[in-house]
This record gives sequence, structure tokens and C-alpha cells, in this order.
Amino acid sequence: MKTIYLDNAATTAVDPEIFMAMKPYFLKKYGNASEFHLPGRIAREAIENSRISIAKFIGAKSDEIIFTGSATESINLSHKGLIEFLRSSKFNPHIITTKIEHKAVLSTCEHLESIGWAKVTYLPVDNFGKIDLVTLEKAVTKETALISIGYVNNEVGVIQQISEIGKLIKNVNAKRKNRIYFHTDATQAIKYLDVSVDHLGVDFLSFTGHKINAPKGIGVLYIREGVKIIRQMDGGSQEKDLRAGTENVPYIVGLGKAIEKISNSKSHMSSEYKQISNLKDIQKKLIDGVLKIKGVRLTGHAKDRAPHIASFIVDGVEGEAMVLHLSDLGIIASSGSACTSGDLRPSHVLSAMGIPPEKSHGSLRFSLGEQTSPKDIDYVLEKLPKIVEGLRLMSPI
Ligand SMILES: *Cc1c(COP(=O)(O)O)cnc(C)c1O
Repeated sequence: MKTIYLDNAATTAVDPEIFMAMKPYFLKKYGNASEFHLPGRIAREAIENSRISIAKFIGAKSDEIIFTGSATESINLSHKGLIEFLRSSKFNPHIITTKIEHKAVLSTCEHLESIGWAKVTYLPVDNFGKIDLVTLEKAVTKETALISIGYVNNEVGVIQQISEIGKLIKNVNAKRKNRIYFHTDATQAIKYLDVSVDHLGVDFLSFTGHKINAPKGIGVLYIREGVKIIRQMDGGSQEKDLRAGTENVPYIVGLGKAIEKISNSKSHMSSEYKQISNLKDIQKKLIDGVLKIKGVRLTGHAKDRAPHIASFIVDGVEGEAMVLHLSDLGIIASSGSACTSGDLRPSHVLSAMGIPPEKSHGSLRFSLGEQTSPKDIDYVLEKLPKIVEGLRLMSPI
């Protein structure tokens, strides 16, 4: 049976070209990059080349790029590291984030709150998942030290206006002594949207390899020059003394290669690259088709939506049941995010968007990748209505 993988927001397959670029660094070029002998220098050079590609891609300097083990680790490092640093200057830092962030941000903020190191405001979103800039500005206090807002939500694909928020923060900062730092979780945006750190006006940006066809277990944290944080991992002095532990050379090479591939495809086809417009057409076909099923609605924003995520609420059906039946037919989708499914609480993202728990249990997410074809969508649109119909017949409601 053919597998139609439509869960690319959860993780992606490693691209064979990326895998081949990594392979020599397992088998032959395995030196420790901290050593000065030849194998060490070969490893060091590979790391620095990858760092240069990534820096260039986001319009940063290579000194501003820190390799970590995941986006989650990057977020822990920026948030805990910054707050620990600022605490030493005696004020009580305040963080502003949103109710729909990934757990990596939410749990980190909750932790900082629970140990009394920071106060946190969780901004509401509207029914489409957007935050309001006036509400954001009103939430700023004299103590506000960090604003952390995800670029693209992984469950519903809604895009926040990061560069507008960056401008707002810049204006606020011009009028005060203690500046506010701005972080964005760009994990779901890196492949498809503008991620120039200067254009966005961010001080921190985080993302991960496994959502962009590099392996799991490699992440990046961009830290703007001059911004000070305290390291959260003690040991050696790797990564500008901010992330101790021997560098994962093959994975760093893989991530660099993934970014080079994205960068090539973005630049070769003018501003709106072809792959994105193809993906948008495929996404539209999927959304239009699924919405033909009775009692189904789209979640997230109609226009401000990343091209790879389409999420729905299907009335009278359990999301998990749909996922299992689709999976039996080779169609891999998801209900809620991987981090929240497995527990039966409704998705915090859908709740924040005003969707009641009994509805959000019927959530279904398809996330596309470059391998997704219009024919795949035809297959989904052929099978899904029957599955929904069958499940509704079985359901007691
Ligand atoms: C996947 C994801 C993360 C976590 O990335 P890991 O590398 O798995 O820690 C964080 N934020 C968003 C938006 C994600 O989609």
C-alpha cells in the first residue's frame, strides 16, 4: 500500500541528498571539532560552513548562530538564559507570550513563573488564531523583558505579523531604559516565509532540523549580537560558551544542507518561489474538497495561513478515529498536535480560539510537503467523506 504522508508539521522525512551530505561525517570525517589535528579541523570547518549558510539565510552574522539539539532546547536556552541574566540586575522580569504557543514555549514560561523568576502574560487570540497588536501593546509593563510569539502555529497554520510586532517593540524600546527582547519560534515558517531577522526585528529566533528534511535532534538559536544570556548547559566551551557538549557534526552538516536547499529554491524562482505556489494550489484543492463534506469547518485563518497546513473540525466524529481509519488506507494525518494527542485534553490552541472541547475532539490536520501531489489529494478526497459518514453512523450522538 502506498503511503501518503500528510503529517509534515509533526516531522519530515530526511531528504536523501541531505543524508548523503551527512554520511561522510559519520564514517570518515568523525573528528572532534575541538581538536587541532587534521580530523578536528575538518570537522570544525564543516560546522562553520553550515553556520555561515544558516546565518546568510536569515540575514545574520555567523557568530549569532548557536547549534542546539532541538527547537525545544533553543527556546529553553533563550528564555531561561535571558531571564537568568536579567534577574541579576534586580528587577522582576515580565514575559509576554500567547495562549497558542507550542508547549516548548508555554512550559518554559510556566516553569519560570513557578520558580518565581518571571511573571507571564498569555495573550488571547481571536477565533482565527490571530493576536491583536493593541492588546499586545497594552500588556507591556515597565518590567516587560521578553516578548515571545510564534511565527506560524503548528496546529492551525495561522501566521502572526512578526515584522509588525518587531516594529512595535522597536518603538516601545525607543522610549524606555530597560529594553524588551523579542523572540519568535520560526519552526513552521523557516521553509515558506520571510525569515530575515532584521526585517522581522527579532533578537532571538529558533527552529529545528526535522521539520525541514534534516534529522531529528538538531536545532538552531539565533541570538542578536550584543544580547546577553546565561548558558543552561554547563561543561565545555562549545558554541560560544553557550551550549556545552561535543558538537553533533553530521547533523549540523545536514541542517546546513537543508537550509542551502531551501535558500536555492527560494532564490531561483523570484520572490514567490514555484514550490510555494504549487503547494498553495494543492492546499486549496484539499481545503475546498474537505469543506464539501457536511458539518466540517476550517480552523485558523483563511488568508494568513502557511501553505503547508490545513486543519479542520469535523462535527460528530472523534479526530483519533479519523486518523486511525485514514492510516488504515495509507493516509497519514493528525488530530491536534503530537505533543497533546495521547492525552485526552482538548488542544490548548483550539480552546484559545474559542472552540468548545466537544467540538475540538473532531479536529483533523493535514500538513503537506514538497512530495505531496494533487493525486494524493484526490485520494484523500475520495476516502475521507466515506470515513466521516461511516463514523457518524456508528456514533451515538
Ligand atoms: C516541532 C515544533 C517545535 C519543537 O521542535 P523540536 O525540535 O521537536 O523540539 C517547536 N515549535 C513548533 C512551532 C514546532 O512545530
